Amino acid sequence: MKLQVPSAVIGQTFDHLRSCGGGRRECQSLWVGPWAHPSDVSEVRHPKHTASAVGFQVDHDWLTAFWLNLADTGCGVRVQVHTHPGAAYHSTTDDAFPLIHTPGFLSLVIPRFAMGPADFTDAFLARIEPDGRFHEVRIADVLEIV
Ligand SMILES: [Zn+2]
Repeated sequence: MKLQVPSAVIGQTFDHLRSCGGGRRECQSLWVGPWAHPSDVSEVRHPKHTASAVGFQVDHDWLTAFWLNLADTGCGVRVQVHTHPGAAYHSTTDDAFPLIHTPGFLSLVIPRFAMGPADFTDAFLARIEPDGRFHEVRIADVLEIV
C-alpha cells in the first residue's frame, strides 16, 4: 500500500519550504501520521532549525519536545522532506544522518529550494531498507497524493 499524502499537506510543505528558505537556504519539513493508520500522512511539521545554502541543523530542544508529543499522540514521522539548492539527490550527509533509522523510513528531497512546481517534479526519494541504508525508490511506487 502506498503512503497516502493529502494534497493539503503537499501545499503546506511547499509553503514552509519556500517561505522559510527564501530561495536561498535549505529547509526541512516532517510528514507525520498516526501509527493506528500506518499508510496515512495526517500533517506536516516544520522543525525549528538553522540553515544555510548547503545544509540545516534542527534545534535539539525542539526535537526533544517533538518526540514526546509524537509519543503522546500515537504518531510517528513517516517522511523527512528537505530542499537542496540545485538537483535533488541524497548527499553523503543525507545518507549518514537519517532522523529515524527504521527500515521503511522515507526521505524526500525537493530541488531548487522548492521554488519550482509544488509537486514531485525532479524530486528524489530514498527509503531505509533492511540493510539499514538509504536506497533510491521511485516516488510513484511509494507515495500517492490524495
Ligand atoms: Zn525551515
